[in-house]
Amino acid sequence: MFDSLSDRLGGVFDRLRGRGALTEADVRTAMREVRVALLEADVALPVARSFVDKATEAAIGQDVLRSVTPGQQVVKIVHDTLVDMLGPDTAELDIAVTPPAVVMLVGLQGSGKTTTTAKLAKLLSGRERKKVLMASLDVNRPAAQEQLAVLGQQVEVATLPIVAGQQPVDIARRALQAAKLQGFDVLMLDTAGRLHVDQALMDEMKAVSDIARPNETLLVVDSLTGQDAVNVATSFSEQVPLTGVVLTRMDGDARGGAALSMRAVTGKPIKFAGVGEKLDAIEPFHPKRVAGRILGMGDVVSLVERAAESIQAEDAERIANRMAKGQFDMNDLRAQLQQMRRMGGLGALAGMIPGMKKAQAAMASGAVDEKILLRMDAMITSMTPKERAKPELLNAKRKIRVAKGSGTTVQDVNKLLKMHQEMSTAMKKLKKMGGLKGMMAMLG
Ligand code: GDP
Repeated sequence: MFDSLSDRLGGVFDRLRGRGALTEADVRTAMREVRVALLEADVALPVARSFVDKATEAAIGQDVLRSVTPGQQVVKIVHDTLVDMLGPDTAELDIAVTPPAVVMLVGLQGSGKTTTTAKLAKLLSGRERKKVLMASLDVNRPAAQEQLAVLGQQVEVATLPIVAGQQPVDIARRALQAAKLQGFDVLMLDTAGRLHVDQALMDEMKAVSDIARPNETLLVVDSLTGQDAVNVATSFSEQVPLTGVVLTRMDGDARGGAALSMRAVTGKPIKFAGVGEKLDAIEPFHPKRVAGRILGMGDVVSLVERAAESIQAEDAERIANRMAKGQFDMNDLRAQLQQMRRMGGLGALAGMIPGMKKAQAAMASGAVDEKILLRMDAMITSMTPKERAKPELLNAKRKIRVAKGSGTTVQDVNKLLKMHQEMSTAMKKLKKMGGLKGMMAMLG
């Protein structure tokens, strides 16, 4: 997600951070580069323009330029402006009403509407224990209703029985009645899509909306279509009262333009992001986390949440403290390796830690699997406590001893040391950025 934008902005910020003092001209130059990066990411022009105006004003207007860490302050301003643009908080579904709450999904054909209907139904029936009924109103696409029925079986959610030949408004009426009579908490309506926005589609949607009076009308858009997604959103939001947006295929979206423009263009929050074809591949959209990810500050909140699930609390605190101090020895590496085995892979973890992209690449190229993790553990076990605390003690002779002790080669030991070195550098970088706590404060 957002990789290319993230790289571009990372370059701009590295140049900023590299200088001690900043002049107004430096900030303006950097902001021009930010604007280019946003446009390359396919952010809508007016959105990019207003973004840069706001961020520039904030950066020049405050005492930023005279502060001790002007580069860092500018990054924070860009971060805050991003959060502002994406919407300040995670927007929940408004379904706490007298049941049944009606959630209507609208969008173009192929945007992922039917899949998203099933994903949301699964989410609501599983985690939130709601009794959910799904109904497809798509009478245009052959087998659309059957597709939803199949997905319903997969996620174990009820679907409205199909009555051949029935029209959308009548299906909506029947679905509503069934939901009321059978005590469903939530009714999800998957409406018909079209290849393009046209009046017939809009009229049908309005007619259904009048009957069903949805609590949520979610527009489903394919994030990969960039500017087109923005145009589609504009047309829909002019015609139906949307309550939110679901962006699909975020798993393949390296540019992020649709995600970044959507709120500004529709005035409605992105509520969920589809992140894969599987039926559990959907996530609530967290603007702060996304902004953090885009700025290469890592998805620290997600990291901490996931880590908390698998590490003992005191362990987590100890590691966080050491990370904050920029310390990272072989014992920490070993603790990390053990967690990784529990947390399901190093790649995912490393991607979430600021500045860890390089280390992540190094590990990916070494294809870290269970066996390699165990071998690394054996090498660390073969070190003396002193060597573990100060890996630089490991000269040629000591390396041979460690290799022998762990049934590996000196080359393996060197690889381990290199990996430790890279992670340690990443930790120091993290410290420079104000440590984990500072980062958390920044992410809000
Ligand atoms: P509809 O015509 O709008 O109902 O679209 P569908 O729900 O049938 O989805 C079209 C295709 O997109 C299907 O193959 C889905 O598996 C796929 N799809 C939907 N959402 C996502 C997503 O978030 N990520 C990925 N990679 N594929 C998705």
